[in-house]
Amino acid sequence: MNNELMAFLLAGLLLFVPAAGAMAASPERVEKTDSEWKAILTPEQYEVTRKHGTERAFTGEYDDFYEKGKYACVGCGAILFTSEEKFKSGSGWPSFWDIAPDAPIGTTKDTSWGMTRTEVHCSRCDAHLGHLFDDGPEPTGKRYCINSVALTFIPEQK
Ligand SMILES: [Zn+2]
Repeated sequence: MNNELMAFLLAGLLLFVPAAGAMAASPERVEKTDSEWKAILTPEQYEVTRKHGTERAFTGEYDDFYEKGKYACVGCGAILFTSEEKFKSGSGWPSFWDIAPDAPIGTTKDTSWGMTRTEVHCSRCDAHLGHLFDDGPEPTGKRYCINSVALTFIPEQK
């Protein structure tokens, strides 16, 4: 083994160790092909999470639903919201004033339908979840307006 190669391997090792530590803390990416998503999601779940659809207002399973528990991403199972931050918004969709601690939530600017809105998605599997508005209650003033079909409810253990 020559010295250059040795130095390269050592540098790689030094870079790898802190990177591995950081990766353990953040959830692993979940990537699937379009046909793989189609196979595991219902047509409604697929339409909303992969095609940026929106379920009809007041039709979602978790719209008027206030059990204690957590809401996971229907695509990858990451915990995104909890019943602690859920509130009755009257919008017709499940609404939360904040995300769960360390939830992998990302946002993008959405200019579809002639409006400028903040799109909300799961940053682990890129599932579209809903939109974020600035008319929520205290303490954050935020309203995460989320499609029920993008979520799986996990009841609190009694
Ligand atoms: Zn996800």
